[in-house]
Amino acid sequence: MSANFENFDFDPDQLRDKYRLERDKRLRSDGNEQYKEVKGEFSYFVEDPYVEKKIERGPIVDSAEVVIIGGGFGGMLAGARLREAGIDDFKIIEKGGDFGGTWYWNRYPGASCDIESYIYFPLLEETNFIPQRKYTNAPETLEYCGVISEKFRLHENAILQTEVTDTSWSDEEGVWKVSTNRGDDIKAKYIVHSNGPLNRPKLPAIEGINDYKGHTFHTSRWDYKYTGGSSKGALDGLKDKRVAIIGTGATAVQCIPHLGESAKELIVFQRTPSSIDFRNNKETDEDWYKSQKSGWHEKRRENFEGFLIGDFSGEDLVNDGWTEIFRTILQALRSGGPSKIRMASWAVTSIFSKDLYTKGFKQYMANKFMKHVGEGNITNKVEMVDFAKMEQIRSRADNVVSDPNTAESLKPYYRQFCKRPCFHDEYLDTYNRENVTLVDTNGKGLDKITDKGILFEGKEYEVDCIIFATGFEVGTDYTRRSGYGIYGRNGLSIMDKWKDGLVTYHGMHCRDFPNSFFFGPAQSAFTANYTHSLDEQSIHLAYILKTMKDRGLSLVEASQAAEEEWVDTIIDSSRDMRSFQESCTPGYYNNEGQPNQAPQNNPFGGGSLNFFKLMQKWRDKGNLEGLELKANDFN
Ligand code: NDP
Repeated sequence: MSANFENFDFDPDQLRDKYRLERDKRLRSDGNEQYKEVKGEFSYFVEDPYVEKKIERGPIVDSAEVVIIGGGFGGMLAGARLREAGIDDFKIIEKGGDFGGTWYWNRYPGASCDIESYIYFPLLEETNFIPQRKYTNAPETLEYCGVISEKFRLHENAILQTEVTDTSWSDEEGVWKVSTNRGDDIKAKYIVHSNGPLNRPKLPAIEGINDYKGHTFHTSRWDYKYTGGSSKGALDGLKDKRVAIIGTGATAVQCIPHLGESAKELIVFQRTPSSIDFRNNKETDEDWYKSQKSGWHEKRRENFEGFLIGDFSGEDLVNDGWTEIFRTILQALRSGGPSKIRMASWAVTSIFSKDLYTKGFKQYMANKFMKHVGEGNITNKVEMVDFAKMEQIRSRADNVVSDPNTAESLKPYYRQFCKRPCFHDEYLDTYNRENVTLVDTNGKGLDKITDKGILFEGKEYEVDCIIFATGFEVGTDYTRRSGYGIYGRNGLSIMDKWKDGLVTYHGMHCRDFPNSFFFGPAQSAFTANYTHSLDEQSIHLAYILKTMKDRGLSLVEASQAAEEEWVDTIIDSSRDMRSFQESCTPGYYNNEGQPNQAPQNNPFGGGSLNFFKLMQKWRDKGNLEGLELKANDFN
């Protein structure tokens, strides 16, 4: 059967076969085990290259009402919202030399944010900050972290260059005890875990990494002393260097154009190509920005979330590559003729699965969907739209890259959300440069690293420098990713608590771990605009702590019943993505080709915006439902 959709002619059966073939090439039995944990002999890969002056100090013995672990957007927002609520006795412990989290570490040339700055930057109305462009970059984001920390005086509460090693609850004292790599002993009534989902860099376990005699680093610890230049590029230290980069994910896509521009020779080792859509960045129109009325920021963030969950009722305010994906699906569904609809579901979710939804959400989504779409075979149409979109992306490689073989190698053959979509206007063109070579490993990856360079299919590529753009740990244990242990009542480890799957209340509370708050998408909201959900979690945290303070309470713990009910809600609302994930080429989105996600390990399946509304409703009730509360005798 041949289908024609929006000027793209393709044969769906052929594409399905091709996708299967490309996935099968990449499937490997070792899954996450193909990566090394960056510690011990590899710890030089995670040393901080940015800190100008190492803080010399003795151990701190102190206490605080709240200890926040992590000084990224989550930790900063928690601090800001606590400050707003009048809770000033908090400490933020951060291993980097300053606030910024992922933006502190990822300063590689070209580092920028794919989410529109007017929604990605939180607290924009509070700070009156005007981002320079629609899509911001790492320097401006770090600058903005400085603006937030100044506005909310966060440096007064910061313990920087310090890594938490353990946290344990003392029933006797009714406090959390926090240990660090500086020998600190800090007691906290409440603890907030905001350690970031993409925090631990990973290295492929390729034979010979430590044999290599040249220079090497991971993109999240960019060595500007070696490369010269800055995150704007102009890497003049590379003008006489042969450089290899391993990986072609979202990070590599952003730094490769700068490496291509600066290095004498650049060799890109690719295992799987990324999908590269248009970026279309533009300067902020200050008049437009300043004319926005109070409340615009929240409205815009919600509008974006709405589009992502199929609420197409208003104007598309962000109107970019992310929202376009969902608008296109809607249009296609609308234009398709009526047929039998087995399960009404909203468009986004249909990308992943047809087996979804239960309870109230099912009806809610059904109404919404039927209103906009009418009846139709959703899953099939969404697949057609996905094929068309990816054909468009593949045709871009043909249009931009002159060498047909290289263009072919750069074409992604998988469904769009198998991997993180990338948006860039210079990446593909970089392969037209004389000094840039793409080594397409055809899904295999490298064979070996030698003392001089990289070996692939019998050919040794001698280079002066190898850059690892190989990403971050995602599918590994919580403790391994966070880098510290968490021990609740009677020494119960969080790993034991979660050994059969995640168990939380609202993703934030965990029974047997009193007075602790977890930030992140687990059993909570999942959105491409991650700072939005961190902000919502911070607002929620501040509300709970303020309410407790006002009521003379100081011990909070999820009740058994509330926890069980929330796990059921997660399972009931979870999208069964297994068949979609199984069809995907491996990557961290599908646990490296081994989708084994227990339904309870998913985020809330009703969509981020609905999760935020649910939490708002919960706060509006005012009774801290589902939480066991006590006045703690020890305080
Ligand atoms: P990724 O995990 O996305 O990419 C790692 C890359 O390394 C992949 O191309 C992978 O290939 C490749 N790789 C791994 N092992 C080998 C090997 N043995 N041989 C050859 N290649 C190998 O990491 P990134 O740092 O690129 O991105 C991580 C995440 O960070 C993104 O998904 C995104 O969420 C976030 N990010 C966001 C940005 C933004 O704009 N907001 C910008 C940059 C990053 P394969 O695909 O075959 O596994």
